[in-house]
Formats: sequence, structure tokens, C-alpha cells
Amino acid sequence: MTTTYKNLIGGQWVAARSGKTFQNINPANHDDIVGTFQSSDASDVADAVAAASEAWKTWRLTPAPKRAEVLYRTGEILLERKEQYARDMTREMGKVLAETRGDVQEAVDTAYYMAGEGRRLYGQTTPSELPNKFAMSLRMPVGVVGMIAPWNFPMAIPSWKLFPALVCGNACVIKPAEDTPLSTYNLVQTLMDAGLPPGVVNIVTGFGPEAGAPLVEHPGVRAISFTGSSEVGRIVGQTAAGLFKPCSLEMGGKNAMIVLEDANLDLALEGALWGAFGTTGQRCTATSRIILHKKIAAEFAEKLVARAEALKVGDGLDEQTQVGPQINQQQIETSERYVGIATKEGAKLLTGGKRLREGAHGKGWFFAPTIFSEVTPNMRIAQEEVFGPVVSLLECEGLEDALSIANGIQYGLSTSLYSKDVNRAFQAIRDLEAGITYINAPTIGAEVHLPFGGVKQTGNGHREGGTGALDFYTTWKSVYVDYSDK
Ligand code: NAD
Repeated sequence: MTTTYKNLIGGQWVAARSGKTFQNINPANHDDIVGTFQSSDASDVADAVAAASEAWKTWRLTPAPKRAEVLYRTGEILLERKEQYARDMTREMGKVLAETRGDVQEAVDTAYYMAGEGRRLYGQTTPSELPNKFAMSLRMPVGVVGMIAPWNFPMAIPSWKLFPALVCGNACVIKPAEDTPLSTYNLVQTLMDAGLPPGVVNIVTGFGPEAGAPLVEHPGVRAISFTGSSEVGRIVGQTAAGLFKPCSLEMGGKNAMIVLEDANLDLALEGALWGAFGTTGQRCTATSRIILHKKIAAEFAEKLVARAEALKVGDGLDEQTQVGPQINQQQIETSERYVGIATKEGAKLLTGGKRLREGAHGKGWFFAPTIFSEVTPNMRIAQEEVFGPVVSLLECEGLEDALSIANGIQYGLSTSLYSKDVNRAFQAIRDLEAGITYINAPTIGAEVHLPFGGVKQTGNGHREGGTGALDFYTTWKSVYVDYSDK
């Protein structure tokens, strides 16, 4: 017996009009069905947009500090339910409990941070050019916002979209990733329990072309926030551009960690291990290229292989597990395909490169932590996102060479440098072409109060997190008040 979850439209739980459903499977054990979800289409999206449009009429007039109170209560309730929601997330997504607890905590932090913004949402007052005239700018809500989410941070990423949108006075329709709808349900259920009025947030589950595309195209949706692959982001962005619809795209990465010869190698090893294999390498910010100074490359590689081989791969619900399964059949096949590509290109497989029969003995998508050395900058394994536990080791002559290798890709999300030389650290901060740079830390670990996003083909200039998010979910209104009677 599995639970059947329905769409949330206008505060009511309703079945998809088509009557079609799909099942969500535990990636650590295919026999475990997490839930049955609605396979929605354009008619369900239209219902959700109509409900959001109606609810928006009142929500936009609710004072921002009152909207913020709902977010604050949401954070408090999420904290009470953290353990249960983390367990649900591990079961549907696979990552280990320590990480799913962190994912729920990220939503808590975002709730509190954005609740604070409800008492700011600053505009400007400026002196007018004319006498007896007052000039100011106001942040106005956009309207109904459509949101399309990926599966790898199934509560954190929806919270990065929903919470700023809500505090700014928008109504939302969210389509979670088909692999992880339960965590978005848990998040939205919490918002409802915290007192969010019906219709202000609506969930429509289903697949990209059937449920995601109609959301992008719907004329009642004023803006689209998308996080996912660059391939799908291109389609979403092109459609939105054709409709002159603001669209925030957060997409893939091929994130470089540079380790110079003066680095604290133990620190760098620890960072490399978790940057590459945390969340089974399935983070947009995962460390997937490690650029090593040639003097320390051999020692670093040997130690990293030993650490990787000691990692405990298995079911994330087991507290001893350090690396969970990959999310689905397609992702594990991608890892396998890239092992083949890298080997053919002449890279040397140091460890891993194969499936494992952990957990439920052949019924989970487990892949061994995989390290390639002798990788050169233009190989496909050094250029293309794998989104699995596969990392490439490259060598450099020094900082200039390392920066040129790090920047020589189409992506620009996260980067990191390990060095004790403050001058070289600041040069890297200045010259790395990326939305995020860490010094003496891996490429992962973003915090909610700073803008999150990338340059080049990782994004189209918008940001999540921090006040950057408010810029996407509001539109400026300039106001001139003439108080002269003449
Ligand atoms: P994906 O692109 O396959 O799917 C993302 C979402 O888009 C899903 O909800 C999917 O159903 C939907 N979708 C698919 N086709 C669509 C279409 N034609 N129209 C509208 N929606 C459609 O990505 P994924 O596999 O869920 O996530 C992994 C990718 O996400 C990786 O590339 C990763 O780097 C990226 N990611 C980026 C960030 C970031 O902030 N930069 C964060 C997390 C993940």
C-alpha cells in the first residue's frame, strides 16, 4: 500500500484531470515505492494558475510584515518536523541523513532570513528635480510566478524560490522534479499549517514536457524561476524569451578546485573528498575538476584514492552511510557512459568506475566513488557535467595556469582555491569566472544570505538567496508625487 498524493490547487487536494499517476521509487531500494503522485498536464496547470491569480488579489495587499510572519511560523514548524522530513527526503532522493537534515535546515534558514526581509523590502527616496515634488521607488510584486525545481535539493531549492516570492507578495505555482515531489509536499504542507491562505501556493506534479512546459507558456504566469540542467534551461529560457517573460535560470556546473603547492594538504583532501562525493556528486556545485600543482599531484592523488575507497556507500537511512545511491537509472547510466568516454580519451582510472551491489543487493543505484587522473583540460570528462560521483584530476604549473584551466569551460558556478598565500587567494577571487569562489574550502556549502548563481552557461544573470532573490520577485515602480497646487 502506498500513499497517493494529489495536486494542491486553491487549497484543495485534487487528482489530475487526466486521472494519470506515477510512482516515486526509493533509489536505494527499487522495491520501496515512496508514493503515488499525479501526472498533471496543461489543464491542471491552468486550474492552478487560475487559483493563484485569484489568491494573489488578496495576498498582494497583505502587508509584507504579515506575510513574513507566515514564513517565520513555517521555519518554526519545519524545525519541529525536521527529522521526519529528512527521513522522507532520504527515502525519495537517496542522500544521507546528515545531508537531508541539512537540506531541511536550509529551508528553515531561508524562512527566517526572508521573514526578516518582510520588514525591509527597501525602495529609495530621492530628491526631485522640481520644487514641490517627491520622488520614490517601490518594490511591487510580480504576480503569479511559475517555479520548476530539480531533485537534488528537494526542499532547499523550492524554499529559495517560494519564500522570497511569498514575502514579496507573489502567488506561486510550483512543479517539483518528478523524482522528489514528496519533499515539496512537506514544505508546502508546512506553509499551509503556518497559515498561508489557500491558493497562494499551488503544487502541480508531473513530468517536464507535460506539466513544466505549459507552466512556462501560460499567459497568466508573469515570471518563471527554473533550476535544472542547461539542456532543459535552454528550452525554458527560449520559450520565456518569446513571451517577454522574466525568467531566472540556474543550471549546471563543472566546478574546479585548485590546490597549490603551499596548501594545507590535509584540509584540501578533506574538501576534495566531500566536494566530489558528498550528495553522491549530484550537486550543481560538486567539485568535479581538481587542478593540482604538479609538485603535490602524485601525493594528493594517492591519498585521495585511499580516502575515497574507505567511504561507506549504501542506503542513506543507515547513519553509518557516507555516500548514498544515485537518483535514478538515467543518472547511473550517465556516470557509466562518462567512465567509458574518459577511458577512451586516455584518462587513467584510479579507482571506482563501476556499479556496486550495496544496500538492498542490486536493487539500488549505487556507483563507486570514481577518480580519474591524467586528465587534460579539453577532454570531455573535464568539460561536461556528469552529475555523479566522478572526479577528474588535472595538473598545473602554477596559479596562472590553474586559473586558465579553471576558466576554460562553458560553465561558471562554483570554484575554490587552497593556498596559504593571501595574495594568490585574492588574485583567484578576482580572476575566477564563477558566481561563487571559496578559499580553503571546497566548492560546496552556500549560505542563504549571499546571492547564489553562476555566470556563463550556468545562469542568465539572476540570483537566488540573499537580497539578489528579491530583485527577481519584485518589479520597480517609480512614483512622483506633485504637491504643488499651481
Ligand atoms: P532537469 O533539467 O532534467 O529537470 C529540472 C526540472 O525541469 C524538472 O522539474 C523537470 O521535470 C523539468 N523539465 C524537464 N523538461 C522540461 C520542459 N521541457 N519544460 C519545462 N520543464 C521541464 O534537471 P534535474 O535532473 O532535475 O537536475 C539536475 C540538473 O540541475 C544539473 O544539471 C544540476 O547542475 C542542475 N542544478 C543547478 C542548480 C543551480 O542552482 N545552478 C542547483 C541544482 C541543480
